[in-house]
Amino acid sequence: MSDLVVATGNKGKLREITRLLEGSGYRVLGLDAFPDAPEIVEDGDTFAANACKKATVIANHTGLLTLADDSGLVVEALDGEPGVHSARYAGAEATDADNNQKLLAEMRGVPPEKRQAAFRCVMALVDPDGNCQTFDGELKGVILEQPQGEGGFGYDPLFLLREYGQSLAELPLDLKNRVSHRGQALKKVITALEG
Ligand code: IMP
Repeated sequence: MSDLVVATGNKGKLREITRLLEGSGYRVLGLDAFPDAPEIVEDGDTFAANACKKATVIANHTGLLTLADDSGLVVEALDGEPGVHSARYAGAEATDADNNQKLLAEMRGVPPEKRQAAFRCVMALVDPDGNCQTFDGELKGVILEQPQGEGGFGYDPLFLLREYGQSLAELPLDLKNRVSHRGQALKKVITALEG
């Protein structure tokens, strides 16, 4: 079985990615398997720039095929914010609850028909020679006026999927994985890994 390093410290994402790669013939290693891995500053202007940077730094460190993702929430009424700043929207040490609170505050007074948003994800696969390939995915939804559901992570409780009438925090993980921005990007990654 080949090793694939998934360059994320986010346990929610690692869980989702590991589940999606079950049966793919790769043994998934998280960053916790590499305690000396360098810190990565996500200072790119795009999801793709950040994803390639993360995967390249970790592939250099481990010498192994490495997958990294960068993702975030793009809200039309906020000119695309929080975008690449999603993880730290409410400040450097912000928790998911802080970020959700800030999003609700920024969206106060925005009428239902103007609350469209999308989760976007770019996955970067870097081989031990440093070649970076990117794959993207998108999930469209609407920003709720109050949190709904206990599952998921990040902005899930505020993100309504119109076709299910439920927030992402209310969907079972398997269903979220099937429809999510990360799931769609990862399907493209798996096709490339198998190719
Ligand atoms: P990243 O770790 O730099 O990709 O930051 C992504 C941030 O976007 C996360 O910390 C979350 O705030 C948000 N995000 C990305 N994907 C999801 C998702 O599937 N659900 C909820 N929030 C997400």
